[in-house]
Amino acid sequence: MRFETRAIRDGQEPDELTGAVTVPVYQTSTFKQEAIGKHKGYEYSRTGNPTRKALEEAVASLEGGKYGLAFASGMAATSAVAGLLKTGDHIIAGDDLYGGTYRLFEKALRPLGIETSYVDLDDLGSLASAIRQNTGLIWVETPTNPLLKVVDLKNVAHIASKHTITLAVDNTFASPYFQRPLEHGADIVVHSTTKYLGGHSDTIGGAIVTSSKDLFKTLKFQQNAAGAVPGPWDCWLVLRGIKTLAVRMKEHQMNAMAVAAYLNEHPMIENVYYPGLADNKYNELAKKQMDGFGGMLSFEIKGGFPAVERFVSRLKIFTLAESLGGVESLVCYPPKMTHGSIPPEQRKRLGINDNLIRLSVGIEHIDDLIEDLARSL
Ligand SMILES: *Cc1c(COP(=O)(O)O)cnc(C)c1O
Repeated sequence: MRFETRAIRDGQEPDELTGAVTVPVYQTSTFKQEAIGKHKGYEYSRTGNPTRKALEEAVASLEGGKYGLAFASGMAATSAVAGLLKTGDHIIAGDDLYGGTYRLFEKALRPLGIETSYVDLDDLGSLASAIRQNTGLIWVETPTNPLLKVVDLKNVAHIASKHTITLAVDNTFASPYFQRPLEHGADIVVHSTTKYLGGHSDTIGGAIVTSSKDLFKTLKFQQNAAGAVPGPWDCWLVLRGIKTLAVRMKEHQMNAMAVAAYLNEHPMIENVYYPGLADNKYNELAKKQMDGFGGMLSFEIKGGFPAVERFVSRLKIFTLAESLGGVESLVCYPPKMTHGSIPPEQRKRLGINDNLIRLSVGIEHIDDLIEDLARSL
């Protein structure tokens, strides 16, 4: 079956007991056992819950993977992947990284003796030379946050597999509608389902997909042992979001493309970061690796921080808020919001300048969005 059909069907067949067309919210902590050791596949909802299972199957199907695992947040999913490592192990991560992931690696893992090196994944030579005897994980985001750099997954996967290092890809920005990292050789895909998969800014969640039975077993153990599982209602909300993922992503992308083209021509704007633009340095790679460019973009405004403040305060439709991927358009100032936990010198080095603004382009009418931007600029 095709993507749109699987998004609505996989893991979500009508309920066997009642015929309910949507997956019921199994709001229960525990399950009756017929006799000691004899049950219908569920014992306790941290270990397994039917609503969660439906979500896990749906996400696995969309990513083209065999196994899915749902978590209480994107960071809980990331932490479970980090749980594959032990003291003395080494991580290599792309240098343009979600702020919370950076914080986890630096403030939680480093004190445990798990060190992370950050490399510019534009330069695969620097990736190869960062590999050590003890490198256990390569962590990649693509497109990256907030600069929308696109990483060549096939080449990174080639290097990772040559050294038998696990490659994990945070696919939150693209969503499986536009990119499926397992197809390019990744071992693990991670999502913040809070974003496009949920799609309505109403729940926090995370997911992991893999086709490796060994990785699945270990990660499933982590999920149950550490216990950062989502509740059935949250699973249900993400499932509901997933059904319209394809429809929403098409609209996000169409609007983002129009906004990027508009900003690209505007005299107040210095740089627009959107891989869908023909003059973007990642356009060719994105076309090869992705089925579309997504709904996220960043740009630099002339006039520094005062101009940022003025612009943001004038917006009426774009809401100033962290997060992304919902139906409503959001604007974010990465240096003080999503990337506030990255030290200023390092932000500068990465190119996260003081005049950088990030947009999550929603699915409102494009004319209203452009008018909002035009008035505020
Ligand atoms: C939001 C986000 C996360 C963290 O997910 P939470 O659901 O907020 O824990 C990780 N990676 C990326 C790219 C994100 O945008």
